[in-house]
Amino acid sequence: MQAAITDIATSGRRFWFRTRRIRFEKHFARALASFLFTLVATGVLGTELVGIRYSDSPRFTRVVFDLTAPPSFKSDLLADPDRFFVDIRDGRLSQNFKSPFIESVQFRGVRFGERNGSLRVVLDLTEGKAPKIQTLGPNGPHGDRLVIDFAHEVDESCAVEHDSNIVVVVDAGHGGEDPGAIAVNRAMEKNITLSISEKVRSRIDRQPGFRVVMTRDRDYEVPLHNRYRVAQNTRARLFVSIHADAFHNPRPRGASAYVLSQGKAQSELAKWLVQNENRADWVGGVSAWVDSSCYAEREKLKFLNVKGRQEALAEAVSVGKKMLHSIDSVAEIHPKSFDSRRGEYQVTDAGFVVLSATAIPSILVETGFLSNPQEAKLLSTSAHQNIIANAISDTILRHFCENPPRYTDLAEGKVACDLEPVTTVYKVRHGDSLSVIASRQQVSVSAIRAANSLTSDRIYPGQTLTIPVTN
Ligand SMILES: [Zn+2]
Repeated sequence: MQAAITDIATSGRRFWFRTRRIRFEKHFARALASFLFTLVATGVLGTELVGIRYSDSPRFTRVVFDLTAPPSFKSDLLADPDRFFVDIRDGRLSQNFKSPFIESVQFRGVRFGERNGSLRVVLDLTEGKAPKIQTLGPNGPHGDRLVIDFAHEVDESCAVEHDSNIVVVVDAGHGGEDPGAIAVNRAMEKNITLSISEKVRSRIDRQPGFRVVMTRDRDYEVPLHNRYRVAQNTRARLFVSIHADAFHNPRPRGASAYVLSQGKAQSELAKWLVQNENRADWVGGVSAWVDSSCYAEREKLKFLNVKGRQEALAEAVSVGKKMLHSIDSVAEIHPKSFDSRRGEYQVTDAGFVVLSATAIPSILVETGFLSNPQEAKLLSTSAHQNIIANAISDTILRHFCENPPRYTDLAEGKVACDLEPVTTVYKVRHGDSLSVIASRQQVSVSAIRAANSLTSDRIYPGQTLTIPVTN
């Protein structure tokens, strides 16, 4: 490039060349910048260690190196003293690298050294146990990463906890290095699902006779089969997975619910969801869950009082419909969540084959679309998370108060349900009429008239109506 500029500059027509030259230099600077960027991105200029994060979860302690490029590395466990090192080829510490504050029973410290063009990171360990190491490419807020997991001893037996409470497993989708969907406002699905799940837990736990078990209560990754194992090992009566959707265009919005079942996906949306990476949690989980050897012995089956597949599916569909109904009263549901022809809420068949005859009723609730700007904004607020959590927890409590499962304190009359008065608030939308609202809310027109002291059937958009809930 530079040679070309000189050649032209020496050939005589000054003025023209001067402007050309400026243009060339601009081009050159731009090209150089993009070339350097490519070099950095491809690691030719080396890999910078930008930061080290670490987190503890019940299953492992995870150390994450945040890097500027995919690393070429070698690692090994060494003894006397116990330590694990990682050599990153052409590696160096970033200028603004800050040494991490590590406070874990597994580490005594972390050290750095640069030699022969490599960056060596040494983790001093309290126990000489080899970790699992893997690389991850850019995803969401993170760039290239090197992830090192030191496994904890976890009891993986099928031991089932005895509990006369109704155990509900609340599964906050995603977590750790898996952010889930990223909203247009940069909010991450993993954080929204965790806040909603915590609100659901605190509401349900307040009711005697119920106990919520969370698959995670902080920001860490939970392997898929472990999410289901929690449901098995706690003798759960219901498994509720909480998510927030994303679509490739910003239009879709509203909540939806999915159940596990047999057969093919029915709706277009469900087809897309099945193909979508986001849905990997369902696809991966089902067989591991239902196929588990923990359900193999007949004796255990009897003791667990597990449901037959069809029975579990029917219960999941019923809970899903009630949940959509209650979300619909306070927030938006996806148009496909209500079948206006049949006048009923529609739980989407996620279309995965259940392999065994036994199952725990389970649903996946998509609380809204993070790809929709308004909904992303709403779902990021505590107020809206409360509204959704309320609808979810209220549905679960009501469902079990009306159908207490056998062998629980609630069924045996040792505790009683004490639920708040059964009304919800409905905001009138364009095109609504009292009869449409009544059919959708599954109450009579006269019940709505009475609850709101209406003297005529005239209503207007934006008006709030108290809806007596009859179920
Ligand atoms: Zn999700």
